[in-house]
Amino acid sequence: MGSRTALVEDLMERFPHVPREAVFKEDLLRGGVAFDSSALSDTANEAAGEVKPKSYFIFSFDHGTLPELGEAALRRPPEEIVLTGGPYGLRRTVVSVRVNPRSPYRVAADDEGMLGLYLDGKRIADVGVPPMPEYYRHTLANGKSVMEVAPTIQWGYLIYLTVFRVCQYFGAKEECQYCDINHNWRQHKAAGRPYTGVKDVEEVLEALEIIDRYDTQKASTAYTLTGGAITSKVAGRDEADFYGHYAKAIEERFPGRWIGKVVAQALPKADVQRFKDYGVQIYHPNFEVWDRRLFELYCPGKERYIGRDEWHKRILDSADVFGARNVIPNFVAGVEMAQPHGFTTVDEAIASTTEGLRFFMSHGITPRFTTWCPEPTTPLGKANPEGAPLEYHIRLLDAYRSTMEDFGLSSPPGYGPAGAGRAVFSVSSFMDSLPADDEAKETAGTGD
Ligand code: SF4
Repeated sequence: MGSRTALVEDLMERFPHVPREAVFKEDLLRGGVAFDSSALSDTANEAAGEVKPKSYFIFSFDHGTLPELGEAALRRPPEEIVLTGGPYGLRRTVVSVRVNPRSPYRVAADDEGMLGLYLDGKRIADVGVPPMPEYYRHTLANGKSVMEVAPTIQWGYLIYLTVFRVCQYFGAKEECQYCDINHNWRQHKAAGRPYTGVKDVEEVLEALEIIDRYDTQKASTAYTLTGGAITSKVAGRDEADFYGHYAKAIEERFPGRWIGKVVAQALPKADVQRFKDYGVQIYHPNFEVWDRRLFELYCPGKERYIGRDEWHKRILDSADVFGARNVIPNFVAGVEMAQPHGFTTVDEAIASTTEGLRFFMSHGITPRFTTWCPEPTTPLGKANPEGAPLEYHIRLLDAYRSTMEDFGLSSPPGYGPAGAGRAVFSVSSFMDSLPADDEAKETAGTGD
């Protein structure tokens, strides 16, 4: 038995109430997966094949640069994989693809052409890949692909609109230490890939028109407007106006068609009100990491321009505008344990993060998290290529669920269904680990 298999099975045994699906999903998200050439999508920049390719919707989420990924860079892997069956009897589990040619996990086709996930050489699950959506096969009038302007993730649930593909926090003294948004911009440009820095609002509307027309099953349910932080202006607009004006245009053209979400900095209340007035329903002012010292070290730009205390105050204030239920700040799960500055024990890291969860949840605000991918061009990724220990991620799922229960909260709106076998949220398994809920939460609430 390989050591990674032993690690996974040990955690499954010690944490039997965490779904087994989530243990594999967290391990794949933190450490990545290798792709055999038989499992690549065969799609380059255009969307022409049968499999929906990885769109690089904001960060690289890879464990190597494009030149290091070799064939996987040229014949892209799928956007996501879905795991089922195998010796662990996995229920349907959607996992975002983070490529790592050195991972002990490998996706490959067997002799019959059936894709499987292999760990330490043993087949552990059947693998499904997302079919190319019809809307990806159509281009905008100017020739741009829908995948470039309005990619969808989470098995088609979420339209991901990174409308500003760089960040005005720039360089070592300002960029968040785990974020490769600016590097990802540079590497796509260097590879000659289409990569629009500031998306034109008319292009976004045109891409959405195509999605709306061909998404006849109405799988697309929400859109996220996001991108880098804006400390001055972009196209003459400040951050609230810049991201907000896309929401306004979308809501005017397609009123109520999707749940509108915006990921932006924690802004003053008047700016947050502008988001709301523009038609945004859910606000994500991400708090990134709870511990004060780590926030100051990891988010130097945010600390300098706004500061942690003010950031948290603004998160709480925004509940007056959106309702606590619709304020969902994200954190990057795992960076608490990045060396040399992070916690050295899982106990300390979980205690710190739980303190943050309790702080927000005691105000009715439900944070959520993405699993840290240690991209090698970031300072934290470079120093910690293995990411955080898997045990940290499993215990976080446990702590998250029990803290929610303590405060009588349920899965946040705008993430699709909760529960193992049902969740579609692909960049952490928090939704897979929560109890299955009813479909009523699929619309954002209006109050807290
Ligand atoms: S604010 Fe930080 S996490 Fe957000 S895009 Fe800029 S560098 Fe990345």
